[in-house]
Amino acid sequence: MRDTTCGDCWRIENLTFAQRLDPALVRRGQRHLCEEHRAKREELAA
Ligand SMILES: [Zn+2]
Repeated sequence: MRDTTCGDCWRIENLTFAQRLDPALVRRGQRHLCEEHRAKREELAA
């Protein structure tokens, strides 16, 4: 179940505001994203 959880959604639900800004935690959450967040990442990366 955990492997299919969107990394961004997981961070929003489980981390404090300060932790969400931590690059190490942000990177760890990138392995899987829901369609909404994946589209958002691609927008930012473009
Ligand atoms: Zn998401």
